[in-house]
Amino acid sequence: MNTIKTIALVAHDNKKADLMEWAIHNKSILSNYELVATGTTGRLLEEETKLPIKRLRSGPLGGDQQLGAMIAEQKVDLLIFFWDPLEPQPHDPDVKALLRIAVVWNLPVACNRTTADMLIASPVLSDKSYQRKLPDFQNYIERKV
Ligand code: PGA
Repeated sequence: MNTIKTIALVAHDNKKADLMEWAIHNKSILSNYELVATGTTGRLLEEETKLPIKRLRSGPLGGDQQLGAMIAEQKVDLLIFFWDPLEPQPHDPDVKALLRIAVVWNLPVACNRTTADMLIASPVLSDKSYQRKLPDFQNYIERKV
């Protein structure tokens, strides 16, 4: 079953205020899900919303990679990632890897507030019969090298 149970949240520093405002506005919906976040984002979310958040390492210290691993293990069902397009990040390869692995696993991803608004309001989010189509990696597994 691939119904949505766990939502991951990440925001770069210049986007944290935006994410906090969004999370407070959507607190009652978010309270229905398991929440996981990179370190600083998670701490701020806990303070602002009082919701329980599983906190990973801070993004630049491996949090993005931890999240990527969770996605590959199908432990995350939706990613809200407010990344900053106007400032270089020291962990830019990790940011790119996180976005890439989310697409590999056909994960719903919101990279800005409008998309986050639309995803969180989607009837698909609470549709228990909805199953995200997972990729068929059989060819990769059996690929001759
Ligand atoms: P942070 O990490 O929540 O620890 O700030 C976010 C990121 O930069 O990926």
